[in-house]
Amino acid sequence: MTLRSPILLIHGGAWAMPDDAVAPHQRGIANALQAGWSILRAGGSALDAVEAAVTVMEDDETFDAGRGSFLTSDGRVQLDALLMDGANLRSGGVACVERLRNPIRAARLVLDRSPHVYFVGAGAESFAAENGMPLIDNNDLIVARERERLLAFQRSQATGQPDTTFSGRFGQKPANRDAGHDTVGAVALDSLGHLAAGTSTGGTLSKAPGRVGDSSLIGCGCYADDLSAAVSLTGWGEPIMKLVLGKWAVDRVASGASAQDAATTAIDYLHNRLGGHGGIILLAPDGGIGLAHNTPRMAWGMAGSEGRQLGITRN
Ligand code: ASP
Repeated sequence: MTLRSPILLIHGGAWAMPDDAVAPHQRGIANALQAGWSILRAGGSALDAVEAAVTVMEDDETFDAGRGSFLTSDGRVQLDALLMDGANLRSGGVACVERLRNPIRAARLVLDRSPHVYFVGAGAESFAAENGMPLIDNNDLIVARERERLLAFQRSQATGQPDTTFSGRFGQKPANRDAGHDTVGAVALDSLGHLAAGTSTGGTLSKAPGRVGDSSLIGCGCYADDLSAAVSLTGWGEPIMKLVLGKWAVDRVASGASAQDAATTAIDYLHNRLGGHGGIILLAPDGGIGLAHNTPRMAWGMAGSEGRQLGITRN
């Protein structure tokens, strides 16, 4: 069997990222690349690499995943994550979890140990606890910055006055193209030629409790199949869900499109069909990569046999 050259591609959000947010995003992505790439380089699986990379970003308060996530309208953190193995389509998803530090690890447990593929809320937390994950207090996932962001956002909604400080910069309504989308995701190809994908998020700012977005839904914000491609998205979740956009994009690759064409046309489709916005990373079984966004900026990183690259692309 010929061994393949592994590749890891990561995103850390797509939005109107201000200049002073660039360095922390690049640092977080570099750390995640390091964690995932050390696994791939040693011959480890795409699935392990994706899980490791996403875990690092969940632990980094910069991102809207794990601790430091956006808050729900009632001031809590509710997390969604999905992990998918392209070799056999094994999948694990969790949504609306409030007591897990690393939902992507819970997703991995679902993938490995459950006959089911998706758990929500208290059931997801019980499953994770039964499988050895500690349950934490929701307050341990909340940072002061996010309490302030929520307050500023809700104040501006109540007064109808755009907030010119905190929420004006970071906390637009999710439907606004400048809204913060700091969901994290990774796609990988390993030396055996298998693909995997993972996405993890705290969702949109001031979302209703119980709301689930695209990130953890199979084929929406995440998908992996060795026969088509691996994909992870960020952005305004509702339009992405309605278009089942992740699956739409990998199907383009299965029909012969290049990874970059599939990524570009997916974002065009999102915009033209539903006025949506966001960013996408995509990795084809031949190692072709695709990246596109219609937000002002997108943070990403890539590691392969030719080295590492970090980018904040602009539109
Ligand atoms: N897509 C995520 C959601 O709608 C949010 C994001 O990517 O920032 O839950």
